[in-house]
Amino acid sequence: MKLTADLHVHTFLSSCARADALPENYLKRCPEEGITTVCFTDHFWDEGIPGASGWYRPQNLAHVMRLREPIPPEYEGIRVLYGAETEFIGSRMSQTEGGIVGISPQTAKNFSFVLIPANHFHMKGYTIPASVTDASDIRLWMIDNFNEAARVSLGVPTGIAHPFEPMGFDKAVAPAIFEAITDDDYRGCFSLAAAEDKSIELNHSVLDSPFYEEYVRIFSIARDCGCVFHTASDAHTPASFSRHDSMARFAERCGITPDRFLSIK
Ligand SMILES: [Zn+2]
Ligand SMILES: [Zn+2]
Repeated sequence: MKLTADLHVHTFLSSCARADALPENYLKRCPEEGITTVCFTDHFWDEGIPGASGWYRPQNLAHVMRLREPIPPEYEGIRVLYGAETEFIGSRMSQTEGGIVGISPQTAKNFSFVLIPANHFHMKGYTIPASVTDASDIRLWMIDNFNEAARVSLGVPTGIAHPFEPMGFDKAVAPAIFEAITDDDYRGCFSLAAAEDKSIELNHSVLDSPFYEEYVRIFSIARDCGCVFHTASDAHTPASFSRHDSMARFAERCGITPDRFLSIK
């Protein structure tokens, strides 16, 4: 199998990306990677929604829309899509029913694809209290946030970014987190995501992960639940826009066939 789309790529407009993360530099790498569709998904918080952190506040609509003018929707045979990776603050943190997503359906109309990260737990004190360190507690946060994010309805194709990646937790606790979340937990989450038309992300971070085999198990369950998928280098510099062939092998290991990938009209 060959993967031809990468729907999670950061440009220089993301505060955490490198200065060389220019759209052209990614597009030049597409032929050697076999990629014919790229979606740029910079970090984004809609200024119409209260609750932006200081980090998100400058990464607003006017900021991410700066990408549009110089880059045409087609570049030497490569289809270019404009998306966004927003933020999600679950009800456990926000005390708001259903949680808070950092983009409104109205604003989402500006994008072809929106990514909702349900587990940006490296943002301590914003997405999760720093006091949550126990694997059994982290399990509950992961599951509840995933399910709430899956229920968000934006009216545009939407994916769940890097699901169940234990971001922001001590490496020592990661095995216990994977152990705490059962196959039935995953089945519940992914069945909901399938019913709610959310694309499940195959993030390149799994390729380097010591939990590669664990992720094979997780995404095989997602496949069984009927999910659709998208691939994501999540590159923050063009050098990381790579290894789409390795991701294709990972998808094959999970039994995910080409017809199961999200197609954006
Ligand atoms: Zn992310
Ligand atoms: Zn990202």
